[in-house]
Amino acid sequence: MIPFDYHRATSVADAVTAVAERPDAVFLAGGTNLVDHMKLGILEPSLVVDVGHLPLTDIEQLPDGALRVGADVRNSDLAAHPVVRSRYPVLARALLSAASGQLRNLATTAGNLLQRTRCVYFQDVTTPCNKRTPGEGCSAIGGYVRYHAILGASEHCVAVHPSDMAVAMAALDAQVVFVDAEGEHRLPLTEFHRLPGDRPDRDTELPPGALITAVEIPAPPDGARSTYRKVRDRASYAFALTSVAAELIVDDGTVTSARIALGGVAHKPWRARRAEEVLTGAPATEDTFRRAADAELVDAQPLPGNEFKVELTRRTIIATLTELSEQR
Ligand SMILES: Cc1cc2nc3c(=O)[nH]c(=O)nc-3n(C[C@H](O)[C@H](O)[C@H](O)COP(=O)(O)OP(=O)(O)OC[C@H]3O[C@@H](n4cnc5c(N)ncnc54)[C@H](O)[C@@H]3O)c2cc1C
Ligand code: SF4
Repeated sequence: MIPFDYHRATSVADAVTAVAERPDAVFLAGGTNLVDHMKLGILEPSLVVDVGHLPLTDIEQLPDGALRVGADVRNSDLAAHPVVRSRYPVLARALLSAASGQLRNLATTAGNLLQRTRCVYFQDVTTPCNKRTPGEGCSAIGGYVRYHAILGASEHCVAVHPSDMAVAMAALDAQVVFVDAEGEHRLPLTEFHRLPGDRPDRDTELPPGALITAVEIPAPPDGARSTYRKVRDRASYAFALTSVAAELIVDDGTVTSARIALGGVAHKPWRARRAEEVLTGAPATEDTFRRAADAELVDAQPLPGNEFKVELTRRTIIATLTELSEQR
């Protein structure tokens, strides 16, 4: 047991000040990822600042129709919210596809965005890992890569981001709202997570010591249909091998709007802009969906051992778009 101090934050300002004074301090929300990392020896903070009891638990509709989700809203509460169920089915389905009922009852919106990779080498402190210790090397390259990236990886890290919720939020153009010593800021969710490059230790663009306070999701356009499809090794309680969050508007047989993000394939939720470009203005047919998937995956670079993920992702994109185009 490595001793650490515990502070239960009483306000957003108190939380930000507490971590500013101790550079190795961490925030604790539901604890479903952080506490595991402390037990595994991945993290050894000298101070844990509990932000899980702050008044950041509201889900409210803003005057422009956007939905503001507090950082401490539990994943189960978000999935069950009537507005999420009716207007953002892609988000409700992504949340419900993740983890287990017990975990979703604890896991928070901010914690979910900031959960770290499930790369087995990252979680095993006896193996070299550039994400844990920069410069140490990457044990996954040449190792077990079934759950690793096929898009946007680097020679320094081939891990993927494990969140389902974040993939839906990337497709929905959500914004992450956070507070640091300088005040409140926001970042589009598509720019929040990073590709690994030569700094795989940095998962996101969140400045050190900043506290996420909310996520804002714009109102979906009229006539939009959305869904989330996740492919995994078990029917439940498993991370995505690949996943597709998609929203389509089909008018008189033509796709007039498409927003798509992929999960389980990259270091960040992968917004599929090339596929969206092919789809917009094209007939809503299987041929179009196939061309869209091909365009997105043209630069896929699988590793020896996860080549199957390219075809799996292609088929999952086509199946998801077909399902949406057939919805009444
Ligand atoms: C067995 C298992 C299976 C799982 N399966 C899935 C799955 O299939 N899909 C999926 O998406 N997820 C899955 N998860 C992950 C789960 O969703 C995350 O562990 C959870 O969302 C993390 O939320 P939390 O509130 O518990 O975060 P914590 O563990 O408390 O914190 C996680 C990180 O977020 C930081 N943090 C928390 N709140 C804030 C804030 N407000 N501002 C700044 N930083 C903050 C913490 O410092 C920490 O770095 C699984 C987890 C387990 C244990
Ligand atoms: S893939 Fe990334 S997280 Fe996994 S061992 Fe390599 S550097 Fe570490």
